[in-house]
Amino acid sequence: MAESQRADSGDALSTKIVAALERLTQVIRVSQGETARRYGLSPLQLQVLAYVVSRPEGVRPAELARQFGITPPTISDALAALVAKKLVRLVRVPEDGRQRQIRLTAKGRRVAEQLGGWAKVVVQQVEKLDRFEQAQLLEMLLRLIGQLQQAGLISVAHVCTSCAYFSANVYPDPTAPHHCNLLNQPLALHELRVDCPDHVLADRR
Ligand code: SF4
Repeated sequence: MAESQRADSGDALSTKIVAALERLTQVIRVSQGETARRYGLSPLQLQVLAYVVSRPEGVRPAELARQFGITPPTISDALAALVAKKLVRLVRVPEDGRQRQIRLTAKGRRVAEQLGGWAKVVVQQVEKLDRFEQAQLLEMLLRLIGQLQQAGLISVAHVCTSCAYFSANVYPDPTAPHHCNLLNQPLALHELRVDCPDHVLADRR
């Protein structure tokens, strides 16, 4: 095959991958659009609801700011809007009365469940893949996220693939090729973390 043809097919492949990712994000946008419009939710307010619903034990505002890589005043504005819409409430932390935690209200939980409806559909489809294919898909997505984080396009992601403790492809086993130097053990593909509390961002390459 001529060099130019090889280059063309490479470009076409990456373009198709980007188009496929765009299609997937459309699923989320369309699924969440009506609920977001009905409650006047900004993209950040959507993110906050999705994060808080996954933390029933409560979340502190500083954690949200860190998680999304934004400033405390920006998160305060988003929270004030969500409180005004009666979707979240701020409650005192039992062990430290000066600190507040964010909790969903009953209305906020209903709205968060509507917003997360797309995830249930995607889970049903992903579960049609066999377990190894699911693990490979997880690894590919995390590699992409890690590379985008290293490129500065994702500010915060506590994933193995961008972690200083991660050593890639050190074992011949295709189901467990990676190693965590903190846990000092191999990492099977399905064990790769999407939100590891011990994550330390590796130096940008
Ligand atoms: S410390 Fe956590 S994020 Fe880092 S490689 Fe180990 S398991 Fe993955």
